[in-house]
Order: sequence, then C-alpha cells, then structure tokens
Amino acid sequence: MLSILKHYVISKYFRKFKDRRELETWQHQQVMHHLKKIIPRSNFYRELYHGLDWQNWKEFPLIDKQKMMERFDDLNTVGIKKEAAFSLARESERTRQFSPKIGAITVGLSSGTSGSRGLFLASSKEQCEWAGTLLAKALPKSILSKENIALFMRANSNLYETTQTHHLRFQFYDLLLPLEAHLAQLNRDPPTILAAPPSMLRLLSQCLSQGLLHIAPRKIIALAEVLDPLDEAYIQEAFGQKIHQIYQCTEGFLGITCPLGTLHLNEDVVVIQKEFIDKEARKFVPIITDFRRTSQPIIRYRLNDILTERKTPCPCGSCFLALEKIEGRCDDIFYLPSLLHPEKLVPLFPDYIRGAIADASDEIEEFLVIQSDSHHIKIALKATSAGSLHACIKASLEKLCSHFQCQLPHLHFIPYEENQQDKKLRRIRSEYIPDSRFILSYFKIP
Ligand SMILES: [Zn+2]
Repeated sequence: MLSILKHYVISKYFRKFKDRRELETWQHQQVMHHLKKIIPRSNFYRELYHGLDWQNWKEFPLIDKQKMMERFDDLNTVGIKKEAAFSLARESERTRQFSPKIGAITVGLSSGTSGSRGLFLASSKEQCEWAGTLLAKALPKSILSKENIALFMRANSNLYETTQTHHLRFQFYDLLLPLEAHLAQLNRDPPTILAAPPSMLRLLSQCLSQGLLHIAPRKIIALAEVLDPLDEAYIQEAFGQKIHQIYQCTEGFLGITCPLGTLHLNEDVVVIQKEFIDKEARKFVPIITDFRRTSQPIIRYRLNDILTERKTPCPCGSCFLALEKIEGRCDDIFYLPSLLHPEKLVPLFPDYIRGAIADASDEIEEFLVIQSDSHHIKIALKATSAGSLHACIKASLEKLCSHFQCQLPHLHFIPYEENQQDKKLRRIRSEYIPDSRFILSYFKIP
C-alpha cells in the first residue's frame, strides 16, 4: 500500500508540466534513462536497436502485437517463456482463479478478438505504480475519502485487489455472471464509483429506469469498449451525469477523461507518437513507448486503435494531448469499391458508418453494422419499428458512399441480438480482410 500511495502522490502532485516543451523534454530524459535500463536486459531490443543512436529513439523501428508475441521470450526481461505463461494464464482463466504468477511476476491474457490473444507481464512494483497512477487520475476526491468502487471485468486480476484499503473498497463484478446477480449485489452494496464497459452500463441504465436498480454513484467510468455516442447519451440520461472514460489496454494505462469530460492521453506515463492515417480528419494510430514498464518493455509499439485528436485544446489547461474520441480498431475500417477505379477500395472509418446510421433516424435505440465482404454489409437495428427504418438507413449510407465516391454495398437487414456479456461490444465491425494492394493509396494501412 505504501508503494501505491507513493505513486499516487507522485502522479497527483509532482507530474505537472507547464507546457508541451517541458513535457517533451522530460519524456525524452525518461526514455533515455529507460533505454539504458532495458537494452542490456532484453535481447530482442538490443538486436533491434543495434548500431542505432539512442538519441533518435523517436525514429526507432516499430513493433506491434504480432512481433511482441513472436519474440516474447527474448523481449521480456524476467526470463519468462511464452509457452509457460500461456498455459498458466489459460489454466487460471478456465478455473477462474485470477492471480496467476510465475515467481513474482503476474501473468495476464488479453481478450483477443481475432484469435490472437496477447500475454502481459507485470511485476508487483509495476502493479503498484499502475494502481497509484490510476487512483490519482480516477478518484474524484482524495485517496483518503471513502469510496466503494464497483468494477465490472471479464476476468478479475490481483491488480485490483491490491488496492483494497481502509477507505477504498473494490467490489469485483464478473461479466460472465448473470445480470440478476449483479443487480442484487449492487443494490445491497451501492457503489460510489461505477466502472464498467459501455454495454454493461447500458444494461444497468435500463434496470435503473425500470426501477430494478437503486444506486446513485458519484462517478461513472466507461472502459474496455468504444463508447458509442448513442450509448453515451442513453447512460448519461439514465444516471443524470457525465460519463467518464478510461482508455486502457494490456499495453498500458493510456488515457482518462479530465473533470471536463475530455479524454487526455497519459503522457506522464507513456510517450504517444501519432501516425496519422487521415491528417485532415485528425485521425491517427498511436505508437506507444511506456517508459515505466520494464518486465515487458513496450517501446515504439503500434496499437491497432484509431484515435481522433481534438480540434482545439481542452479548456481544462492540461497539456496532455486531448482526444475527440477513441474511434475503434483499425481492423474495423470498412473498405468499399471505388466508383472511379472499381478495382480499388475506399477506406471508411468506423466513425463515418456510425454517423450515417445515427443520422438516419432518431428512433434507432441500438445497432450493429458488419461488413462481410467488399459488396455486403449486414445491419441489425433495435427500434420500435425497425422495419420502417430500412429505407432511411439505405438513403443515409447512399449519401455517405456518394460523398466518398464508393459503391453502395448490398444491405442485409438482420434481427438485432443483444450483446453477449462475455463479448466486447463493437457496434461497427468488419469481418472482411481486404488485399492491401488495392486500397486507395492516400491511406496507409496500419
Ligand atoms: Zn481537459
């Protein structure tokens, strides 16, 4: 606990930067210091950066999840083998015993959506640092005020249990359990802070409106899934307050909303470089360098996410990069044949599809849009009379396609099915993997 408190204090009171220049100078020092520590201990990075000038780390070769998993044994600095870590993590997931450790290192498995699951490692020092930073940024009041935190997760982990103190209580809710069990528990032990994926927050909002749930948390935090504006409005309305967000993945604690509700990247923990995929639309793929994490170093690592930068700085005054939104995964970009060059494919960002659906009608409560191949899109709508909305959806997508000069695909309307609680909700998703040679050239495939 002392160690968590130390990092809480550092994060809350000592990491203040007056402007970007001061921040970037500090980050550079942190990264240089980090490289000095990591390179002698990681064969992978030593090989990768051989002969390179460390001062130019911003230009170092990129890695990604695939590379990290391929070279896992060489990359980590604690001598853990991939096979051993995988079998331990799988076993603990199967038995739902959530504190697997190899020596002093906690092993976790990310919930991979496309079959490629990632492993992550954390020492207890890293866990304390993570918890301290998270609390400093997420708690509405000081760490000394009493909070009862309800946390919905796919898998528990000892990361969260670490932070049980006299003042803070963490109540873990397993997303795999039925909703009725959650309602009973929440009513019995009402949280002051509620943190859950948007799909769960939405279900809880429904229960609140139906009088099945009686809680009044001070703060609501959405995490683990993209927060769709449609869901955000719904949850906000039900709970009568702003919805905060945490941007976190196995690769690190990357961002959180400020008191004004703007998402800022945690540039006091990670360096985030922007690889623009559409500069005009301010959309980029983040490349992260975590200058704290040593057991599984993450340096110049390209994520599979699309972020949109805010047009104007946030009025809160923070110099950490402000986001307009987390849009989704690069894999969920749609690709449709171009009107001008039918052999080419035009990329459409998830946000454009989302916008076209939302603009079509106010009656849509929920939706799913799935691209199955270059000419077919499946659409599922939840609305009082979903059938009557097909024409406006078609018109709205037609407008979008004509704007981007691509062909309108065949639209297949399918029944809406509620999201399975154990799956991440992605309202816009693609099952189609395009041949990158045919994608229109202005667009760089991440
Ligand atoms: Zn702000």
